[in-house]
Amino acid sequence: MTTALSITPVAVVTGGARGIGLGIARWFLARGYRVALLDIDAVTLERTEAELNDATRVLALVCDVSKPDQVQQAFAQVDARFGRIDSLVNNAGVAVFKTIGTTSFEEWRTVLSTNLDGPFLCTQACVPIMLRAGAGSVVNIASISGLRASTLRVAYGTSKAALIHLTKQQAAELGTVGIRVNAVAPGPVDTEMAKLVHSVAIRSDYHDVIPLNRYGLVEEIAAVAGFLCSADAAYVNGQVLAVDGGFDASGVGLPTLRKMAAGGA
Ligand code: NDP
Repeated sequence: MTTALSITPVAVVTGGARGIGLGIARWFLARGYRVALLDIDAVTLERTEAELNDATRVLALVCDVSKPDQVQQAFAQVDARFGRIDSLVNNAGVAVFKTIGTTSFEEWRTVLSTNLDGPFLCTQACVPIMLRAGAGSVVNIASISGLRASTLRVAYGTSKAALIHLTKQQAAELGTVGIRVNAVAPGPVDTEMAKLVHSVAIRSDYHDVIPLNRYGLVEEIAAVAGFLCSADAAYVNGQVLAVDGGFDASGVGLPTLRKMAAGGA
């Protein structure tokens, strides 16, 4: 029997316990979706589930997105509980900021397995469920570090550049069956992850190279991820949208230009 609840759209957000993922989950909840949050951090996930306080529409599942068996199990649980998936946001990610010489193989594998294997596995698990409704949308959360190289990001930047290409592979293949896949490449956002890897000096450097001269907000990333999942983006497939205050568009000289502008030049 088709009920009102069974046709309510469903979004899955990985890394949804906090930060950008939680912001994206709130975007979907505000628009009437049911939302499954998948996260490796059981304690924060439990706290977030309690805060959202919406047992009918929120399903919180502890899941390491880099582990095939855990991913299969989590998506089976989402399917059993909600019966459909309309949108998947592959947001879970980890950052290690170290030089090429000091990044251990274990750190390299951790970053690649979470940031790249995770979206591969979650999308693979999700597609058969999406296909039952004949349509769906996937958004991969990449990074400006996947668009432009920088120091200390050998593992992180490479994982995000690969995720951007994975997005295009997925869009090319899954577009033929009605599933759109796009990527968002956020600039710096002041989350727990950023607090961990952005030193005072790096923060100042970011301001120097971003025309808008500030960090982005969780809500600003969520709005774009949500848009890409929505019917408003029905013909957008295989794109990478940088939400970065103009970082990717600009070159050298912003601090000088700001000084000139301040001096009335
Ligand atoms: P946070 O670290 O604040 O949140 C990420 C969440 O994902 C955490 O709860 C984390 O748990 C969880 N997670 C980590 N590994 C896994 C895993 N293997 N399986 C499931 N969940 C996992 O990060 P942000 O909100 O800042 O970042 C979200 C995404 O946005 C990431 O992909 C990041 O790379 C990207 N991004 C962030 C930017 C920023 O400046 N903040 C800039 C550009 C991109 P735990 O705490 O245990 O690790």
